[in-house]
Amino acid sequence: MALASHAVAAESAARKAPPPTRKALKDESSAARKKLTEAVDEYKASLASLAELQRKNAETAEARAVKLRDLLGSQIVSVREVETAELELAKAKAELEKTRLELDHADGILEEIAALDRLLTLPDRPGGYVSTGVLIRYSGTRWSMAEASRVEGFFSSRFGRRAPISAFGQTALHSRLGYDHSNAIDVATHPDSAEGRALMEYLRASGIPFLAFRTAVPGKATGPHIHIGLPSRRLGR
Ligand SMILES: [Zn+2]
Repeated sequence: MALASHAVAAESAARKAPPPTRKALKDESSAARKKLTEAVDEYKASLASLAELQRKNAETAEARAVKLRDLLGSQIVSVREVETAELELAKAKAELEKTRLELDHADGILEEIAALDRLLTLPDRPGGYVSTGVLIRYSGTRWSMAEASRVEGFFSSRFGRRAPISAFGQTALHSRLGYDHSNAIDVATHPDSAEGRALMEYLRASGIPFLAFRTAVPGKATGPHIHIGLPSRRLGR
């Protein structure tokens, strides 16, 4: 009910204001897009320097672990020292991986936002499957965030590693940019890779809705990924 009265209020406000011209709308959306891109670029720049630092840390940790492993037979180092070095290495690698997924997330978020208008023009019926050059949509009907663990389970049992999830539900970046991603997860996997194809097959067989984004522009930093769940929405403004 509250929503309905909001909608009525918004409608009457819209009726009072003169309708925006086509050009004004276009200018507004390109200005908004520019702002989004700038915010994402800024975020990515800070992540990139963090990743560089973490890459160096991981390299140092790796060199140390290798050296200690080599010395193990010579009684100079203890098994415990080697284990500690291995743990440090695993930790350094995990930190770097986390930042890389954050970067994938930042790349993918612009693809999703850019696709929102396009989605409105694609046919959408339950069980429908549409594939354009850069976008695939499967309109599955079985989804809640509780299904996410099943998807993760499928991925790890099939590929022997954790699914590279770049966004689990709402993220700080989504909130900052004004988008609702609370009902979706992103897997940073190219839809044309073996993993991506297997994942999409699994999702379709399970009736789980998804959007898959291919790289739109060669050479440009884009974020191919598979978005599982309902499409993002612009948060009310
Ligand atoms: Zn997504």
